[in-house]
Amino acid sequence: MTKDQLIEAILKEKKQRNISILAHTYQAPEIIDIADITGDSFALSVAATKLQSDTVLMCGVRFMAETVKILSPEKRVILSDADATCPMAVQLQKSQIEQYRKEHPDHTVVAYINTTAELKSVCDVCVTSSSAVKIVSKLPAKDILFIPDPNLGSFVAKQLPDKNIYLMNGCCPVHHQITAEDVLAAKNQHPDAKLAMHPECRPEALQYADYIGATSGIIEYTMATDEPVIIGTERGVCDYIKYKHPDKKVYQLCKDKLTCTNMKLTTLQGVYDAICGNGGCDIELSEQLRVAAKKSIDNMLYYGN
Ligand code: SF4
Repeated sequence: MTKDQLIEAILKEKKQRNISILAHTYQAPEIIDIADITGDSFALSVAATKLQSDTVLMCGVRFMAETVKILSPEKRVILSDADATCPMAVQLQKSQIEQYRKEHPDHTVVAYINTTAELKSVCDVCVTSSSAVKIVSKLPAKDILFIPDPNLGSFVAKQLPDKNIYLMNGCCPVHHQITAEDVLAAKNQHPDAKLAMHPECRPEALQYADYIGATSGIIEYTMATDEPVIIGTERGVCDYIKYKHPDKKVYQLCKDKLTCTNMKLTTLQGVYDAICGNGGCDIELSEQLRVAAKKSIDNMLYYGN
């Protein structure tokens, strides 16, 4: 099939089968185009709870599809590519957190939403990159273990000097590659541009940013300014802005480094196959695991509000 035929076939099949497509903003423009909803991972999982369709197809990585399933257990949830895994989400083992809790029973364990359902099930509260500072600031505990991203954890710690924030080894292998030298080179190349960066980047790179925030925040910041912006996050965001708002002047910071190969596993052919039952994979969580993981998300909503 040609690309246009494939798109037509996807739209026809998803309508006939009552399937909704969710696409993370890091997806390629052709995937964004066929999606019913586009956004950050947690926003997508909340949006999915309001959909009429019995089945949702997540174009993203596994932890995102798991979060959809945690919040919408009655729906069939399909991940568009069975191999699309976020390396950061699987860096820690459940047993490491259980051991830490035994040794530090008075510490609160905070999990970034980029974690497996299994890890969420042994943590106290989840956060997103946009809500992390607010939620951690509201926690009664002073001693906090923040997993799995030490870069985001360091960003939170810097904003909240009254908290003792403990970190474990790990990182987003995509954002962590960005160095201070990369940032300075981009600023030299585009001296009139602002710099918007994701807090998964290293602190020494973030120090030069005009804005630090989640994917949705970076898009909002870029749309709100008349000045050009260097986009310091996965290249899908810059591609998305260029595609949706061609009048905006944006520059990608280190395109080669800021490409998440897992996010780019999703293709139109893969989406078509998954919709037709010939690809992707169903997300299954035991009810015990789902309920335990949901507690940390419920706590996020409690403290976030
Ligand atoms: S960009 Fe980083 S955090 Fe996001 S899915 Fe890829 S590896 Fe995971």
